[in-house]
Amino acid sequence: MTPDERRQALEEIAAEVAVCTRCPLHVQRTRAVPGEGHSDTEVIFVGEGPGYNEDQQGRPFVGAAGALLNELLKAIGWKREEVYITNVVKCRPPGNRDPDPGEIAACAPYLRRQLEVLDPALVVTLGRHSLGTFMPGTRISGAHGTQRPADPATGARAALAYAMYHPAAALRQNSLRETMLHDMAGIPQALLDSRARRADEATPTPAPADAQVPDPQEGPAELEAALAAVGAADEPADENQMQLFG
Ligand code: URA
Ligand code: SF4
Repeated sequence: MTPDERRQALEEIAAEVAVCTRCPLHVQRTRAVPGEGHSDTEVIFVGEGPGYNEDQQGRPFVGAAGALLNELLKAIGWKREEVYITNVVKCRPPGNRDPDPGEIAACAPYLRRQLEVLDPALVVTLGRHSLGTFMPGTRISGAHGTQRPADPATGARAALAYAMYHPAAALRQNSLRETMLHDMAGIPQALLDSRARRADEATPTPAPADAQVPDPQEGPAELEAALAAVGAADEPADENQMQLFG
């Protein structure tokens, strides 16, 4: 997909979300919150669902939890415009209650499509519900700050999922701020790890002697992509220099 096609595909998903009535959350929403960010990024943050401010503005993480998320990103030299930010459910659960399993399932196709378009290297989960989507069966208390390959069925074809607490939890419990800062500091390395994995996957295995000559239109491009990916993985883990997209 070209950058233009990617941007268009994300806009198309957002337009569908804006008028979606697939689950009961549409009834009380002010605005749906599809997500926002850089369409060529390697990193997506997935929260739980819109709160009051997000519902008013139609944008993710613009309230107090969003301010903390921005601060955490700043701590590793990143800006929210450089990543993509969305939620497991795109409409606000009334009174900020947890989204229920039926609502999460109804909304899942939108997140899956966003992941298919973005093809991120890293999916950062914020909170339990996002964790449940990308690391089912794990508990946040043990999983935070750790990574594991995302199930391609989520739409993330070749990503590592990296677990974090939800920023709102750190607003309620101050001691979690330090934990979140520490977990955040592990993100650049997780991205490098994922880049290395993706480069391995992209490297063509040597063909046996009697193999057919590869299509000359495809071979060099694949090799170039693999070499570029290997080059990227060799970059030092200086988070302030890290380029998230081309
Ligand atoms: N909490 C979330 O999970 N998502 C938002 O967008 C804002 C707060
Ligand atoms: Fe549609 Fe998701 Fe909103 Fe439910 S939460 S109405 S599935 S966009």
